[in-house]
Amino acid sequence: MSKQVNWHERAAALSIDGRAYTNGQRLAAADGQVFAKTSPIDGRVIAQVARCQALDVDLAVASARAAFDDGRWSGKSPAARKKVLQKFADKILAAKDELALLECLDMGKPIAYALAVDVAATARTIAWYAEAVDKIYDEIAPTPANSLALITREAMGVIGVIVPWNYPMIMASWKLGPALAAGNSVVLKPSEKSPLTAMRLAELAIEAGLPPGVFNVVPGYGHEAGEALALHMDVDAIGFTGSTRTGRRMLDYAGRSNLKRVYNELGGKSAFVVFDDFADIERAAKTVAGSMFFNQGESCNAPSRVLVHESVADRFVEIVAAETAKYQPADPLAAGTVMGALVDDIQLRTVMGYIDAGKSEGARCVAGGRQVMTETGGYYVEPTVFDHTNMSMKIAREEIFGPVMSVLRFKTEDEALAVANGSAYGLQASVWSDNINRAHRVARKLRAGTVHVNQYDEDDITVPFGGYKQSGNGRDKSLHAFDKYTELKTTWIRIDG
Ligand code: NAD
Repeated sequence: MSKQVNWHERAAALSIDGRAYTNGQRLAAADGQVFAKTSPIDGRVIAQVARCQALDVDLAVASARAAFDDGRWSGKSPAARKKVLQKFADKILAAKDELALLECLDMGKPIAYALAVDVAATARTIAWYAEAVDKIYDEIAPTPANSLALITREAMGVIGVIVPWNYPMIMASWKLGPALAAGNSVVLKPSEKSPLTAMRLAELAIEAGLPPGVFNVVPGYGHEAGEALALHMDVDAIGFTGSTRTGRRMLDYAGRSNLKRVYNELGGKSAFVVFDDFADIERAAKTVAGSMFFNQGESCNAPSRVLVHESVADRFVEIVAAETAKYQPADPLAAGTVMGALVDDIQLRTVMGYIDAGKSEGARCVAGGRQVMTETGGYYVEPTVFDHTNMSMKIAREEIFGPVMSVLRFKTEDEALAVANGSAYGLQASVWSDNINRAHRVARKLRAGTVHVNQYDEDDITVPFGGYKQSGNGRDKSLHAFDKYTELKTTWIRIDG
């Protein structure tokens, strides 16, 4: 990032188009309705955004269907799709300052991370699926000599993508990458809390050569545009990321409509388990603080349940509490900021409600716990650590989605495993031990889609991401994501001798 950039000046000069994007064009909602989008940085209105309803969703789905059926994208060779998507990734990088600024103003994350993480990961995801798509081969089954059975993957059709607000572009790209590379058309419904980058991504994709109609965006509320998309009879699959509560609705919508495929990527309450045979307690403590407070704690995989052996817990908690000094909230538009604003006043109240619950349920608040920077008009909360929590407390059981960590002390490995697995969620987990047998044993027994050993935040587009239990089904990222957006077809061919 250029040190000279004055992001406040750039923000003041920014003119934001909040209209939907359908069939290669910006469009107001059919009934002309908009909603005011405020910035969590200072509570000011930054855009009027189209409030799409069922009619707008119908139009977007019809555009997507027409594009799919006439083969303008689905009929192109994988190599041709690759070229366009590589160009799309290049355009994302070329527009990095604008996209990062929109993401920062829209959901409150620090500008430095919006640039280095959100924009970079979005471009890499699109480029990775572009590069992969002409290197995947189909199969021929080992059948008798008088026949040939081809097992091929075909694009599915129209994919509805519904995403949350915490990593708006990254979450969208995890679905756009494989869905578009495989030849599908997409209708994207961004969160009403962070809709702004979605429309720009669609514009950049079309500028890169994606045919109009292949990538459409319908901003709006979940119970309006989201529900209309998930209930639509002409949508073949929904790639959903969001809360477990809304994930349940997705399954219901599919049951009530056309039994469309539903791929849910849902909430988490990830366990971070530190044994007393792990020598470098300081590294473990610093890692958990960094991972927990990244993105204001608004990460599905935040290690929010920290299980520590009782013999090392005092020292561990002391280091974590001291580390919170590094993660104090500050102006998200300042280059050095590492903790920004919570996404809105609703999320602020939710997080403060959990902090109050922790205190009243008897947990010990050893760092943070307060709302700060109220003079800005924005929504900022200190990084907060509760010690002496247990699974009967709300803060240890429920996903908070804010900068609040719960430390639970344990005595034995069996107890640690029972507590770690004693959650409705199973997104990620981590085990810290210098005993190779214990590390492997515990890693195998942890019921989570990703288990880390002696580290936490290693991540890459090459590996699947998703959860066990109520953290969802399906997997984003890696080549496995193609499974979600393709149909498997068998074609039998008779060969006469
Ligand atoms: P949310 O469920 O409230 O909203 C997600 C999306 O669904 C939004 O676009 C919203 O408008 C839409 N929606 C809401 N109600 C709807 C309805 N009735 N019908 C149709 N659509 C509806 O979730 P959120 O608050 O935006 O995001 C936070 C959640 O997302 C957390 O639980 C977090 O763990 C989860 N998340 C999971 C992953 C993952 O990969 N597993 C990644 C990021 C976030």
